[in-house]
Amino acid sequence: MAQKKPAGNGPYDAIIVGAGIAGCTLAWELARRGIRPVVLEQNWIAAESSGRNTGTLLGGPQTEVVELLDACAAIYEELADGPVPFEFARIGQLLVSATDEALERGAEIPGRMETVGHRVERVSGETLARDHPRLKLNVAGGFFVDRAWTLEPMGATHAFAHAAREAGAEFRTGCRVVQVHSRGGKVEGVLTDDGIIAADMVFLANGGWTGELMRRVVGDGPLPALPFTAGRGWLIQFGPLGFDLPWIMEELTWPDQEELGRRMALGRLSDVADQCDDLPAVEALCLNPMRGGDARMGASIQPAFRDLVRNTDMPARIAGRAMRLIGAMEGPRVQNVYPGNRPMVSDGLPVAGRSPIEGLYIHGGMGSIGMHAAPATARWLAEAVVSGDGNPGKPWLVPGRFPGWA
Ligand SMILES: Cc1cc2nc3c(=O)[nH]c(=O)nc-3n(C[C@H](O)[C@H](O)[C@H](O)COP(=O)(O)OP(=O)(O)OC[C@H]3O[C@@H](n4cnc5c(N)ncnc54)[C@H](O)[C@@H]3O)c2cc1C
Repeated sequence: MAQKKPAGNGPYDAIIVGAGIAGCTLAWELARRGIRPVVLEQNWIAAESSGRNTGTLLGGPQTEVVELLDACAAIYEELADGPVPFEFARIGQLLVSATDEALERGAEIPGRMETVGHRVERVSGETLARDHPRLKLNVAGGFFVDRAWTLEPMGATHAFAHAAREAGAEFRTGCRVVQVHSRGGKVEGVLTDDGIIAADMVFLANGGWTGELMRRVVGDGPLPALPFTAGRGWLIQFGPLGFDLPWIMEELTWPDQEELGRRMALGRLSDVADQCDDLPAVEALCLNPMRGGDARMGASIQPAFRDLVRNTDMPARIAGRAMRLIGAMEGPRVQNVYPGNRPMVSDGLPVAGRSPIEGLYIHGGMGSIGMHAAPATARWLAEAVVSGDGNPGKPWLVPGRFPGWA
């Protein structure tokens, strides 16, 4: 593996802001390439979206999403038998619709999934009900998709953090980065609530707060804006299911990344005026039977004003939906119900690459697929930093795809 050690004055070669999946995967990839990073996290590891998501890696109708899926599954395999367990396993995926009309309308998505390399098999509601009577399914029909993975997201994020520490990374939790310093077009370090920390490289991997910190690049900044928004979602966490569910079940109403990004964009005041809590941008059941025997269920997405909890009736809507579609879901005990924010950009795909300031990089915009994307985007970014120009060779990933960043 290529090694690179920039000549810096401080104890660290690189600062990573944020210890979610984006920051922890990057810490591992940099540290194992001989770069010594410190990860600065204002709360604790996996405190935000990375510790509170459904834990699914699912196929999709976009080639980029499939490329990320397969690359990430292979990277998780590298850590799956390591010292931090995270219940990683391959599992089936079943896309369903409640009515014949919705099934016909939604069939376009599995059709597109086939064209990007998934094997898809149609199944009728009668066949599902006959073969799985304990589930008490009430669906018009669906599509089996050949590959998906389940994991426990808090454990997965910690598995990367542990591997990063073993490779030489340091983590400081309870340490908030206030601003990023640059001079003469080159990054110099960051200001935290505990003082200044110097390094020749700074990586912004702080999820839903990335846009704010980009505004706080001082000296040569601020950076040109990227179209960051947040997609609020709600999760219901169950104890043991008490029955066997052989697939991650998802409703066909969940759109592709591009459409998600579009629906999350908060452009002008009229978009804010249009925000109504009773009109979720997407509402679709997604049930993940975790390998620990329990389960997580979502899903909804709504443009979010980051710090304000809205759409508080979403858990009720998701619960009602689940009971209509899967009668057996009335049985398991609910353990917790909570919201989270997906850090998104307007095309729904992640962002990884260099900024106009030398040594300053972005790793974010993970959207609804952060668990499914960050291990691969971190690897590609670290490779590009060590032996390239700092931009992974994938135009759909780099910040330069947005105006003002070319
Ligand atoms: C309800 C829900 C369900 C989801 N389900 C899935 C799923 O099934 N599969 C999937 O792949 N993805 C899913 N996601 C998306 C996934 O959770 C996110 O894409 C991913 O966790 C984002 O990771 P991140 O590291 O970019 O951000 P985060 O996990 O939010 O981490 C960013 C970190 O930066 C820290 N931070 C911020 N600002 C500062 C600062 N100034 N100084 C220091 N630290 C700072 C924060 O405290 C935080 O810990 C879901 C999301 C939600 C909300």
